[in-house]
Amino acid sequence: MEKILVTGGAGFIGSHFVKRILNADDVAEVTVLDALTYAGHIENLGVAFLSPKLRFVRGNILDTALVDDLMSRHTAVVHFAAESHVDRSFHAAGAFITTNVHGTQTLLDAATRHGIERFVHVSTDEVYGPVPKGTATEESPLRPSVPYAASKAASDLIALSYYQTHGVPVCVTRSSNNYGARQHPEKIIPLFITRLLKGEKATLHGRGEHVRNWLHVEDNCAGVEAVLRGGTPGEVYNLGGGTDLTSRDLTEHILHICGATWESVEYIPDRQANDIRYSIDWSKAAQHVGYQPERDLDEGLAETADWYRRNPDWWMPLVRTPQAAPALRVFTAA
Ligand code: NAD
Repeated sequence: MEKILVTGGAGFIGSHFVKRILNADDVAEVTVLDALTYAGHIENLGVAFLSPKLRFVRGNILDTALVDDLMSRHTAVVHFAAESHVDRSFHAAGAFITTNVHGTQTLLDAATRHGIERFVHVSTDEVYGPVPKGTATEESPLRPSVPYAASKAASDLIALSYYQTHGVPVCVTRSSNNYGARQHPEKIIPLFITRLLKGEKATLHGRGEHVRNWLHVEDNCAGVEAVLRGGTPGEVYNLGGGTDLTSRDLTEHILHICGATWESVEYIPDRQANDIRYSIDWSKAAQHVGYQPERDLDEGLAETADWYRRNPDWWMPLVRTPQAAPALRVFTAA
């Protein structure tokens, strides 16, 4: 029976993963280690606390003594904890290097000491940098453009080096952009949905030509679980397969779902080093661990928008607004 330590389990993707893995009969215990930064919310785990298998520890992955103690009680690690927002990394790169690189190394040192049997390091397709044509495979060079992606690339390489050097059975997953309920409204999909709900304009960078692959968070979590169970140590697995869209096309989908028009969109200057296109080949994960994303984009987006409409108490405090909280718009049927 697996005893799994999940770092960052109170964040967006981590909380979905915890709810999923608690349902597995062969999982005896799940411990969430999370510092509850601005991005972590204990409420994200919600009904998961009904499970006697779940334990929550508020703490930092950089706390060597705490990490050592937790590692000694677990057989597997799924490592989500990170500073995850690109825009913040422009002005606070130090926090990204500290958490994403040193934090990962702290976990790996403890995993080495305690003979951890599985270690999944959760990463991103942004480590490949811009892919103007074709798709990035796991063998493609890492050319991160922004400090967030560079810190993740560094942590991927550190993690893989612990497999080579110390035999820690590390697998790395690199997924495309996730969306779904409980994502911080600093990220584009919840940002646009919550701005439209407040009667404000969605703010589209540049001319909206950047291409991203949008993967439902549940599909990513299914992929992470598949890699946890069947991944080969020392290997990297791309997890994509959602829908490729320009940010303009994504905006069109969101407007449609929210019953809004292009009059509710404001173009703003492009952000720094905004990679023109990401694209990953995920056939290795399909062939080796049976990964198969299933969620339809429009259904997933509608469900996501509905979640934000029903949960203003969750996101309102996270949205900085100079005015008092406005009355919410009610979405019209799309
Ligand atoms: P998130 O920002 O929603 O959650 C991060 C969690 O980590 C939060 O709960 C936070 O409190 C916790 N945390 C941060 N620093 C910590 C520390 N020092 N010690 C302990 N806990 C700490 O992030 P997310 O979107 O859920 O992403 C999770 C992982 O997936 C990250 O590693 C990210 O790089 C990766 N990823 C995200 C996406 C995406 O689209 N969101 C895509 C690909 C990969």
